[in-house]
Amino acid sequence: MLHKLALIASFLISLITFSGLGLGLWLGSILPWMAPQRIGPFNLLSYVQPYLYLVIPNILIFGLFSFALGLLTRRTLTSYLSIVGLYFAYSVVAFIFSVLNLDAFFNVLANPFGNGSVDYAVRFWTKIEQNTLSVPFAPAIWLSRLIYLGLSAAFFAWIWRRFSFAGMATARPRLEQFLDWLERRFLVWKTTPPQERPAEAVPVRSELATLPTAHRHYGPGAQANHVWRIVQMELKRLIWNPLVLAILSISVLVLMVLVGTSIRDNFGAPALPATAFILDMASLLVKFLAPLLIIFLAGDLVWREREVKVDPLTDLLPVRSWAVVLGKLLALVLILALVLVLLTLGGLLAQTLQQYTHYELGVYAIGFFTLVLVDLLLISILAITIQVLVNQKFLGYLLSAALVIVFAQGDALFRSARLLQYGYKPDAYYSPISGYGGMLEPVRWYQGYWLAIALLLLCVSALFWVRGVDTQPKQRWRIARQRFTRPMQTVMGLSALAAILLGGWIFYNTHLLNPAPSRAQVEAQVIAYEQAYGRLIDAQPKITAVDWQGDLYPEADGRFAVKGTYTLENKTQQPIDTILLNLAKDIQVNQLTVNGSAATATAEHPVVQAYEFALAAPLQPGATAEVSFDLLKKPGPAVARAGIKNFASHFENGLNFRSVDFMPMVGFFQRPRLKNEQKREQAGLPPLDPTAEAARQTQYTPLTPAGDADLAQFSATLSTSADQIAITSGELRRDWVEGNRHYFQYQSQEPILPVVPILSGRYEVLKDQWQDVQLELYYHPGHDRNLERMARGMKNTLDYATQNFGPFPHTTLRLVEVPYVGEAVSYPATITRGERFGYLAKFDDNDPTSVDEAFRIAAHETAHQWWGQQLIPSDTPGTKFLLEALPEYTANQVYG
Ligand SMILES: [Zn+2]
Repeated sequence: MLHKLALIASFLISLITFSGLGLGLWLGSILPWMAPQRIGPFNLLSYVQPYLYLVIPNILIFGLFSFALGLLTRRTLTSYLSIVGLYFAYSVVAFIFSVLNLDAFFNVLANPFGNGSVDYAVRFWTKIEQNTLSVPFAPAIWLSRLIYLGLSAAFFAWIWRRFSFAGMATARPRLEQFLDWLERRFLVWKTTPPQERPAEAVPVRSELATLPTAHRHYGPGAQANHVWRIVQMELKRLIWNPLVLAILSISVLVLMVLVGTSIRDNFGAPALPATAFILDMASLLVKFLAPLLIIFLAGDLVWREREVKVDPLTDLLPVRSWAVVLGKLLALVLILALVLVLLTLGGLLAQTLQQYTHYELGVYAIGFFTLVLVDLLLISILAITIQVLVNQKFLGYLLSAALVIVFAQGDALFRSARLLQYGYKPDAYYSPISGYGGMLEPVRWYQGYWLAIALLLLCVSALFWVRGVDTQPKQRWRIARQRFTRPMQTVMGLSALAAILLGGWIFYNTHLLNPAPSRAQVEAQVIAYEQAYGRLIDAQPKITAVDWQGDLYPEADGRFAVKGTYTLENKTQQPIDTILLNLAKDIQVNQLTVNGSAATATAEHPVVQAYEFALAAPLQPGATAEVSFDLLKKPGPAVARAGIKNFASHFENGLNFRSVDFMPMVGFFQRPRLKNEQKREQAGLPPLDPTAEAARQTQYTPLTPAGDADLAQFSATLSTSADQIAITSGELRRDWVEGNRHYFQYQSQEPILPVVPILSGRYEVLKDQWQDVQLELYYHPGHDRNLERMARGMKNTLDYATQNFGPFPHTTLRLVEVPYVGEAVSYPATITRGERFGYLAKFDDNDPTSVDEAFRIAAHETAHQWWGQQLIPSDTPGTKFLLEALPEYTANQVYG
């Protein structure tokens, strides 16, 4: 009876704790400085519903579950551990569901925490519905809650009956007994009790028996020999551990099944088992499964001698503690390497079975053994160190799991402090076109930093490794000081020095060289910029002609040097006395003039560098001015790169950027703009009238960074390495080789929106013809299986659109394969399309449910040559209809 009361009381206490959330939200909404029109009317249901759908069921589900476990083990620790375990189990299931492409509904049901079910229930709601309606009690919500409530109630009832309180108190009072029971049930290799296992201790004994008599030297050679013996012994034991065997076979089996059924393109079509796909899939699989294995085995390795009670023997052996720690770590890492070897073999076998013979052993080697394995090594060292320091096996499990989750999932937490996120490294992806595209360099810097720190941790483990019965902190500290010998001091000193130097170098490049402005600085800059130039917002000339010569150096560091001119025309009714030009922050400006004069002032802005030109004579309506520029775009320091977004451009092959990444943008730069009314008033800025602003935005388009919607004459000359093809918009007038450079001269016969791609790569090209339009499909050698489908998509759309919408304004239409990106973009006369977007897909024309996305996406992007390129949407609600719904409609009209 008392326990039931305790249950109810803890439920109520949890509920009261969590009710603080809703109360806080409500209190926040009635604070005097909150603008009521931004909050909406009070609705009690909105506050109650989250409790009914999520909070109360979760308190019950996890309360019952962990209470039952607590009952069973009489330890609160297992209750906490169980929630961590549940989280791990759920992420594995979610991962498998996601690669199996299961319906989102099942994903919601598989989530015991219930998050996602509300989103799922309202996934088709418009913004207005989201703001006004209450969430219905949809099947996704009540089913997911019912399933887990049922499961945890059943579990609770079972425990309740099986382990009555009276029995628990006397017969099986101890955590250890329950865990023994668990291990007997699930971990078969521990079935025999310790005293019946002399065989296990035999190698240790024989070592003990032979070593003192045969050779009595303990020099470095002997220590290395000890390490090797320990590795062999632990490996032999680990490899027959049922958990290891299970994970080994499961991971290979799962990989084979996944490769057989679930290799998919970025839009979900089945694809060839290219190494890049297999690598992604296997790395994800390992990322979810391996930490579990590591945490468990680290505990096992650290505690084995004490658990089988041979520690009085082994602790006396003349083996240095560091040799024991190192030997055990190496055994663990070799097991993990074995997992990766098997995954490689599994991947190769799956490729062979599907008759995909483009084997890339080097890619497997880099991806698995220099990226994944290093991650796992770092986790292993962390887990071993925690087990040694905490010296309490299950607390060690809990702490290791918690830290691994925090470091792996804590991306948001550590965003500006990566050097504290143990094991963090920037993303690196493999692309058939560009390889790792320079992404490995920053990874290596971080790996070096973490390995230095891990070596330090390993030394700490050796210092505090428990031998004998001295487990009191004071004694451990004393022993550690004894073990802190000269060689140990040297190793720890050097690794600390390496960590400081590498960390300092990373910090210097990421934080000091180009410091990200704080929020306050961003706001101050946006205010100052608008105070200075807000009056120019609608009073600026428009670009009417663009002409530039650019040199690409993909074979060097990918830099791009460009010189050129703009013609600006005053299309307003008033004279213009000031012209404002903005450039991306990373551009080196060698020269920038308007009508031959340099800038009269510059301004700070969070996104752009701004140049102000006060004209000697105002630009009269209808008059033109000439901007001339000499610019350099070059990659920043490798160590500061973080993933693809920042340097999508500088690839050795498959280089890809847009003119807006480096060309000057004319006028008042509106993104971002200060919207907060009070702050605007404080800064002396005019209030923003939403209606007037909406009307203003009809003059701007979301397609260009400055919002300009005016068409311009376009010509450009582009040079690149002799073995590459350089591509932009417009018609190719001529191309020639001069020195070791390949030149291409482009010119558009009609004015275009001057947002164009700059591309360069070692491409092959398929040429086709539609009436008098030349079709050119540039692709990576070997990626040709779906080109005919893409060409057909382009031709059918040209047919349909010219008949129904209007003429096609160019004489060439290109489709260029580009690395990494999972999307396609339509520029004037040139479409870019990601390598994972149909080039390796397998389409089954006999299957009526299979959609030919190679064709369909080519059709959609071709339709953008009308929707977006000829009819340019304004920056107002409804833009998406013109910009995406109409191309989609067009593609559906021509599909079939
Ligand atoms: Zn589109």
